[in-house]
Amino acid sequence: MSEPRKKLTLATTSLAGCFGCHMSFLDIDEKILELVQLYDFRASPIDDFKKLTEPCDVGLVEGGCCNTHNVHVLREFRKYCRILVSVGQCAITGGLPAMRNGIPMSELFTESYLKGPTCDSQIIPHDEDIPAILDRIYPCHEVVKIDAFLPGCPPHPEVIWETLSAIAKGKPIEAIPYQHFKFD
Ligand code: SF4
Repeated sequence: MSEPRKKLTLATTSLAGCFGCHMSFLDIDEKILELVQLYDFRASPIDDFKKLTEPCDVGLVEGGCCNTHNVHVLREFRKYCRILVSVGQCAITGGLPAMRNGIPMSELFTESYLKGPTCDSQIIPHDEDIPAILDRIYPCHEVVKIDAFLPGCPPHPEVIWETLSAIAKGKPIEAIPYQHFKFD
């Protein structure tokens, strides 16, 4: 009789994203019951552990890096995760936030804080406690090594489930079927 497979550990984090990828993760619905047979949950915005402080088998990262805090969080997360997966277009390409790439920073600040229709205070925030904004959005693989990519905005829940299930069972990650590419 074969030994039952050891449970892996799973953590997730969110950088410059909209949490839609985490919502898609939760959309695996009842398969979450199977997932908890395969993984023990570690730090994640969807549970009560907020900081990863020990090695973890699999990490899912949503969102790219738009500021120094994102870079710090991503580097720390990478340090602890054996397999790190970029989940969704924001993590893989910068996604929607990357629409600002190519626009001069001075223009961005002027529009956001001085001239935009909702600018009441006419002050550009500047404080050492506020993470510094980066010159552009950086996809995660430009900051740390990424082991797997799950495209989509957000990736289809089935793709997230199949990927986590394959990793837990020691199987290769399958190519994403065309009908599961999701950009809506
Ligand atoms: Fe949101 Fe799409 Fe970015 Fe995921 S890829 S964080 S769903 S905008």
